[in-house]
Amino acid sequence: MQNNHLLSVAEAFGSPVYVYDAEKMQSQYQRLTNAFSKVEKLRINYAVKALSNLSVLKLLKKMGSGLDTVSIQEVQLGLLAGFTPERIIYTPNGVSMEEIEEVAQLGVQINIDNLSILEQFGAKHPTTPVCIRINPHVMAGGNSNISVGHIDSKFGISIHQVPHLLRIIENTQMHINGIHMHTGSDILDIEVFLYAAEILFETASHFKELEFIDFGSGFKVPYKKGDIETNVEELGKKLSRRFNTFCKEYGRELTLAFEPGKFLVSEAGYFLAKVNVVKQTTSTVFAGIDSGFNHLIRPMFYGSQHHIENISNPKGKERFYTVVGYICETDTFGSNRRISEIKEGDILCFRNAGAYCFSMSSNYNSRVRPAEVLWYNGKAHLIRERETFEDIIRNQVIVDFE
Ligand SMILES: *Cc1c(COP(=O)(O)O)cnc(C)c1O
Repeated sequence: MQNNHLLSVAEAFGSPVYVYDAEKMQSQYQRLTNAFSKVEKLRINYAVKALSNLSVLKLLKKMGSGLDTVSIQEVQLGLLAGFTPERIIYTPNGVSMEEIEEVAQLGVQINIDNLSILEQFGAKHPTTPVCIRINPHVMAGGNSNISVGHIDSKFGISIHQVPHLLRIIENTQMHINGIHMHTGSDILDIEVFLYAAEILFETASHFKELEFIDFGSGFKVPYKKGDIETNVEELGKKLSRRFNTFCKEYGRELTLAFEPGKFLVSEAGYFLAKVNVVKQTTSTVFAGIDSGFNHLIRPMFYGSQHHIENISNPKGKERFYTVVGYICETDTFGSNRRISEIKEGDILCFRNAGAYCFSMSSNYNSRVRPAEVLWYNGKAHLIRERETFEDIIRNQVIVDFE
């Protein structure tokens, strides 16, 4: 997006504010579907947890996407956005049997990732087809919090438990219509990913009634200059070929599914915040903004490097700044960043603010959460109002001590 458009949004809707570029989401969606154009049945299920605004969900629906959900509330959001239950897959981890049953009753595809729930569910609902989340134990790099494929990960059913899994299926007579994996958040080495896929194919061959194989996500997007990203085109070429061969061996045309979150929305997002104070200490120049990790937690939580620009003075002389928030604990967005000269009142722009940014925001320090704006067809559309003090106290029940 152009700086003048971003500035106009900050002016019209105030700061801090999240801005999402619909065109970028569209082009990422296209890029992924183009990469897999040789696969007859492709299904992209956008991972709602990355950015769950209803207008964003509706936009993805318009593009042809389905949804990947991890809670019943995400399922409800999807239904509210107009997705039919068949377009939604539910991949929870550690949720109650009651919630899984409730979602199944809505007609949403269930994906089960542990043997205990599988056995209970199969005994009670043998006719409801279920997808199984497999853990192939392949490390896909990245941050340890987002690598979920390793041996002692809480996610998925271990490939070492396939015999036990098959026994449960035989005993309950349940139907398995899908096999799934989601190994982590960084597919950088395509050969490693294809190796995990081989394990999934091998597992899939034990099941006779499959309709789809879901390869999860893990597409890496660049955050800063020089970052490597998943080569989606190469992955598409290699995995499509292998998938089509598998379908021939299997004897049926299966659907190839992915469930990207970050890939579709990360780069579409911009977070705009105003500089309240420039503070020079003996060693550092701090730029303190009208926001904090209550609005954008990724730098403090995952050590994520969001590129920061001063869009009020993009051509100014560059200096080193440490950009900090207003939360009363260490709240650093970026240390010693080279940013064009900052004056109080300038608008800073954080890149890659589409995925896991607003959706992880909170009211910590009793601050309201920012507005969200969708930039669509050359115009700004407010898609979530900035909260007010009323929202902070909404559910509080005041005890009368008189
Ligand atoms: C979070 C999640 C995704 C999306 O991951 P990204 O890294 O954002 O693409 C996909 N599938 C499952 C099961 C997830 O939990």
